[in-house]
Amino acid sequence: MIDFSISPELEDIRRRITALMDEYVYQNEDKVIEHEGLPVDLERELQQKVKDARLWAPNLPKQWGGMGIGYVGQALVNEIIGRSVIAPRVFGSAAPDAGNAELLIIAANEAQQERYLRPLAAGDVRSCFAMTEPEVSGSDPTGLRTTAVRKGSEWVINGHKWFISGAIGSAFAIVMAVTDASAEPRKRASMIIVPAETAGFEIIRAVGVMGSGGVGGHCEIRFENCRVPAENLLGKVGEGFKLAQARLGPGRIQHCMRWLGAAERSFEMMCRYALERESFGEPLANKQTVQNWIADSAAEINAARIAAKTRASRFR
Ligand SMILES: Cc1cc2nc3c(=O)[nH]c(=O)nc-3n(C[C@H](O)[C@H](O)[C@H](O)COP(=O)(O)OP(=O)(O)OC[C@H]3O[C@@H](n4cnc5c(N)ncnc54)[C@H](O)[C@@H]3O)c2cc1C
Repeated sequence: MIDFSISPELEDIRRRITALMDEYVYQNEDKVIEHEGLPVDLERELQQKVKDARLWAPNLPKQWGGMGIGYVGQALVNEIIGRSVIAPRVFGSAAPDAGNAELLIIAANEAQQERYLRPLAAGDVRSCFAMTEPEVSGSDPTGLRTTAVRKGSEWVINGHKWFISGAIGSAFAIVMAVTDASAEPRKRASMIIVPAETAGFEIIRAVGVMGSGGVGGHCEIRFENCRVPAENLLGKVGEGFKLAQARLGPGRIQHCMRWLGAAERSFEMMCRYALERESFGEPLANKQTVQNWIADSAAEINAARIAAKTRASRFR
């Protein structure tokens, strides 16, 4: 049987995060600049308050400045953080940086961790993760066509990616590229770190998406004879698929819980509006169809919450 009770420590963390959201986050939502997020100085000021409260980076271990609270803990705090579009960056749990930091913890060597993970974990730089390609199905990364060929002491990368979140302004990309086309499908690709200033790494455009594009856009990128040192390989040759699974699995829980938080806040707004708004001499909340909609939404949100929490428990 799955235990759904929340430990007193996690209850306390949730209470303290809620207090920070109430005091500093919601009131700054209107300062967001479209496609850019909060003004840098304001974002840093809010991040510092979170760090001072020891509530920074719920997904990272304490050794890297995070909270070290495991997957269920991450699920439960991301539910609160997801209530505001600005909160994931304020709390150091935003995609794609959170997933990239987790990946660098698992796969990077000491030198790579010092150079790329340390500033990322502290929130001093942003990063992106470049896997999906326009020409092939993103659901099936065994078909990727971007290649990385070893020439002497370098990897030479050629290819085309899109929907790469946060690419504009990133310090580096973690790129999934085919290093051995003759290997079995799940051993063809490897991951390679590409600093953004490398020649041949070109951001073509931010692809249009529904709603705001978020910080750094969801970009189309081209790699043209993009050369990086051989030591930029992350993990071993052929481990790309395995590492992608390790990165994307926990990321799904974080994404899903943030969306749940957004749904819960929307639900509360809907209920408030139904009580306040009057039509034909009574509040909307008195209408049977409106009551049905509210009840259906509550049931769907609760079902999603239980499914997500169950998945998080299995990762423990
Ligand atoms: C906002 C946003 C941000 C993103 N950020 C990143 C990022 O940072 N880095 C990155 O690398 N990628 C990113 N992606 C890309 C994302 O991972 C892909 O869009 C996703 O993997 C789906 O791939 P696709 O778009 O090529 O669709 P396809 O794989 O071509 O799928 C097309 C449709 O077919 C369905 N389908 C596919 N396979 C099956 C199946 N076996 N059975 C039934 N239906 C199926 C899909 O559900 C979909 O509806 C992002 C996408 C979006 C929208």
